[in-house]
Amino acid sequence: MKNTHRNTVQGSQPCASGEDLEIPDQPPPNPSLNIEHIIHSGVFAPDADQSAHALPDADRLVPKREIRKSDNGLRNEFRRRFYPKVTRADFNDWKWQLRNRISDYQSLARMLWLSAGEREALEYRSGMLPVAITPYYASLLDPFDADQPLRRTIIPVIRELDHLPGEETDPLGEDHQSPVPGLVHRYPDRVLFLTTNVCSAYCRYCTRSRIMNNDSDYKFSYERWEMAIRYIESHTEVRDVLLSGGDPLTLDDDHIEFLLARLSRIAHVEILRIGTKIPAVLPQRVTHKLTRMLKRYMPLYMSLHFTHPDELTPESARACNMLADAGIPLGSQTVLLAGINDSILTMKQLFHGLLRMRVRPYYLYQCDPVSGTSHLRTSVRKGLEIIQGLRGHTSGYAVPTYVIDAPNGGGKIPLLPEYVMGYDGNDLLLKNYEGKIYRYPDRDQSGLETVPVSSSEQTARQ
Ligand code: SF4
Repeated sequence: MKNTHRNTVQGSQPCASGEDLEIPDQPPPNPSLNIEHIIHSGVFAPDADQSAHALPDADRLVPKREIRKSDNGLRNEFRRRFYPKVTRADFNDWKWQLRNRISDYQSLARMLWLSAGEREALEYRSGMLPVAITPYYASLLDPFDADQPLRRTIIPVIRELDHLPGEETDPLGEDHQSPVPGLVHRYPDRVLFLTTNVCSAYCRYCTRSRIMNNDSDYKFSYERWEMAIRYIESHTEVRDVLLSGGDPLTLDDDHIEFLLARLSRIAHVEILRIGTKIPAVLPQRVTHKLTRMLKRYMPLYMSLHFTHPDELTPESARACNMLADAGIPLGSQTVLLAGINDSILTMKQLFHGLLRMRVRPYYLYQCDPVSGTSHLRTSVRKGLEIIQGLRGHTSGYAVPTYVIDAPNGGGKIPLLPEYVMGYDGNDLLLKNYEGKIYRYPDRDQSGLETVPVSSSEQTARQ
């Protein structure tokens, strides 16, 4: 149950101090939510809390098998090579990282040996999803291999200009399920609150590429936030609010707290969630100051976005551990991508690594048919094969739910390999992870079809 106090927060899980906390009635200064304004504003006086930057215990936190021992050394080498005048402390300052996102051909060409497809896409950018890569994430890219999985997720290629039948700019029909701008109300008891149109890095398969940096159609402002909050206040069936965007953690602490505080005051809102890719692309953003603030708004959940085991670095491990230590349950969402993570081995490495970082693999998404993503999408059969290769072969916690977010607003539909074979008399016939068939004496199969069972299956049954 949430608090109903005005001006104080006393959530169902007490904050660390157990005190009533002042929460803002008014938005923080700097009404423009444009990232340039935010990162240059007075709100952004560098915080004294730089402890996240020191990374003293990073190696201790790191899943040993997937993380190269020399990761921090590689990062330093990258910084000295491409940012020789930037100190280690500045490089590990999230505001510096945001201000210095890489978005143009010249800067990328200094760092990477670009393929013809990448070069063309970077030179001809009209109408395409913007490019932005944090220097931290750029340090994870292979300078010579344009087929490296992380590179393919973040560097555009000219094939983005191909638009296939069935692809849409708004494949989930979110704009048609927005009762007020910036809020999607698809499911009965929960809403998606789009807080910003900025991410620290832009994934080339983004479902919301239509809104990214698009200030003409999707400009975010306090007025829009207010409209969304008022809608939630007046819809008592909404018990779960997911803050997304864009990435809400690109906002400064004051703006995030304003939103969390306002939503926490609504009596019927039971849980808050934040969807973010920050721990993968800008882990320096997770500071002690941020986690102390987030802790005040429990129950708060986070859906993180990880794509490939190469994202599991000492820095991302540290960010996830800090969030978990703050008591925030962490789940991860992964999009299935052709030639990037569409193998059982890659997925196993990713999901095992995430569990070691205290993140539960939550959803595996079939890639949405977003315009210009045909080169990144793979078949549903491949996704089913991967789930079949995981289920039973590793811990259940390492197996996410595989879903298709149905086009035009149908919502998430789970996909499972065929484990239920049908009935033989009263017995339900089930196939296990090894392909062996077992009987379960069901109590009531009325209304279900009885299927004939072949003689070979009869033999296999035990
Ligand atoms: S982090 Fe999420 S919202 Fe941002 S570009 Fe990537 S997929 Fe889109």
